[in-house]
Amino acid sequence: MRRAQRVERRRVRVVGGRTGQHQVTTSAQHASTHPCNHPPPMTDVFSPAERSRVMSRIRGRDTKPELQIRSMLHRLGYRFRLHRRDLPGSPDIVLPKHRTVIFVHGCFWHRHPGCRYSTTPATRARFWRLKFERNVERDGESTRSLRRAGWRVITIWECEVRKLARHPERIGRRLHRALGVAD
Ligand SMILES: [Zn+2]
Repeated sequence: MRRAQRVERRRVRVVGGRTGQHQVTTSAQHASTHPCNHPPPMTDVFSPAERSRVMSRIRGRDTKPELQIRSMLHRLGYRFRLHRRDLPGSPDIVLPKHRTVIFVHGCFWHRHPGCRYSTTPATRARFWRLKFERNVERDGESTRSLRRAGWRVITIWECEVRKLARHPERIGRRLHRALGVAD
């Protein structure tokens, strides 16, 4: 929890650093209740286009949950490649030998169903709704195209990684199971 808060604060500071504007109190409160990869519910100082640009940079690659999954795969001896742009949705992790791709999805951005981190900011509701709809739609399209092309698609949610991180051996089991490999 502590570490998650620090990560969130750092992210908030990145936003502030770019613009010189952010609300410390709000983001600190936010960090204490939502230790995950999503923006604080502050009044937005950006236009939708700017917000989209800033957030896509924050959301970017090599997020902490993704790094955790990568290091676990590495320890388990899997060979993988990253962000294959030639595949639909440029999957975060690709295991060619298993013809499998792994998406490590942030619960907020990708709308993990029923997850407590899948919140909606109080302001700019319409903007967020459209953005989320687009994300979910794109995820669905990528998954369908990949499956049609014979790929197995595994989605691991950020909250799941966070829970599993305390029990590394469980991530291993989860991955083995998903990949159809015996423990
Ligand atoms: Zn979740």
